[in-house]
Amino acid sequence: MKKDFKYSMSLVNGSVYRNGKFYLEDIYMSDQQITKIVPSGKILPCKKIVDCTNKLVLPGFIDPHVHINLDLGEFKSSDDYESASKAAAFGGITTFIDFLEPISYVHGFYEVLKKKQSETKTSYIDYAFHTAVGNFNDDVDELIKISRESGIPSVKLFTTYSESNRKISYTKIEEFLKNSNKTNTLILVHAENDEMIINANVEDTVESYESSRPAASEIEEIEKLARIVAEIKGKLYFVHVTCGSSIELLNDKYKELLGKNIFIESCPQYFHLTKDMYDNDNGNLFLLAPPLRSSKEQEKLKENISVIDTIGTDHCPFTKEEKMRYKEASKIPKGLGSLEFSFSLMYHLFGDEIIDKFTLNPAKIHKLFPKKGIIQVGSDADFVIFDPEKVLYIDSSHSQSDNNPYENIITTGMVESTILRGEFLVKNRKLVGSMKGQFIWRE
Ligand SMILES: [Zn+2]
Repeated sequence: MKKDFKYSMSLVNGSVYRNGKFYLEDIYMSDQQITKIVPSGKILPCKKIVDCTNKLVLPGFIDPHVHINLDLGEFKSSDDYESASKAAAFGGITTFIDFLEPISYVHGFYEVLKKKQSETKTSYIDYAFHTAVGNFNDDVDELIKISRESGIPSVKLFTTYSESNRKISYTKIEEFLKNSNKTNTLILVHAENDEMIINANVEDTVESYESSRPAASEIEEIEKLARIVAEIKGKLYFVHVTCGSSIELLNDKYKELLGKNIFIESCPQYFHLTKDMYDNDNGNLFLLAPPLRSSKEQEKLKENISVIDTIGTDHCPFTKEEKMRYKEASKIPKGLGSLEFSFSLMYHLFGDEIIDKFTLNPAKIHKLFPKKGIIQVGSDADFVIFDPEKVLYIDSSHSQSDNNPYENIITTGMVESTILRGEFLVKNRKLVGSMKGQFIWRE
């Protein structure tokens, strides 16, 4: 006779991360959700019991910034949904947010949405989208309305790339922020000062690449935008902040806006790699925009980790051949892959302090909360079983790119297993799940 269990699976005897602390608790799940949390000790009847002794049980990680199937014309980023989500699963990421292709007119929205939706059927993990605009000269309210009606309450803008017609005008930025203030829509911004980049006037080489998009251009632009937010309010989210000085500035001058009107994202590459890589023969491999910075800026970034809200990867890898094809920096496809190692790299540097930046904070800021980002009854049963003692030697990855910027780095702390909505995706470092990722509708 088949016995019917109330719970489909339990994680027992682990250190469970809740409200910023660890508790010795057992978690029970059924119907893809967390249904009971009790102090460890007595095990309840359950179909499958997983022992997590000496392991950390963390909420599934959220990467709010990935580029999958990014098409740059001559180049297309290496990962599709299958390979990106597989790499993500090995890194403990159970939800990521990808970008729709930038549009300049409202009427382009459904086409880019449909295109993106058609790419996602092979996703192992859950996903959501951000709308993105290039040099947008259309009705802001209408765009945000239809984006939200499609479960996408976030729009990304660029203050640079005028050469590829992506740069938006400041009048439009103000319109987006005014709308954000009314509708609580999140405005993401790639902040680099376009004029300073145009006037940088340096050689088009890898060695000079950082000076062609200098730290000052980020700092200047962030200050400019913060001033606008101070006036208009709304919600502005700075993607991939590279400089500790940018964060210091925000914290010194605009502290009262942080966490309310201004949010800060940074990426693992800016903590682990510096612009010195550009002086090496294989410097091409590390090209991305904005560039890697000086070790001085990197130190400051680390000092200001507590001010940073989220860690996204800006995952956008290309192959070694593609990265090495040209000598001119302007012709090299920009981007790195970080999905698989993001958490381990950051945990290695900061320990438990980093957990919320991969879970609770992105869930709240990007409106995935309380479905995602937290271990509590009623939330999705997404977990990472993490061994904080195990040493991870990074030698290969599950990305389709052969260019792994973290090769030969050793971290302490390893994602052992990843669970998505009550089922193992990765178990003891082996892929065991299938492509059941779902679109997460955000209000
Ligand atoms: Zn990006």
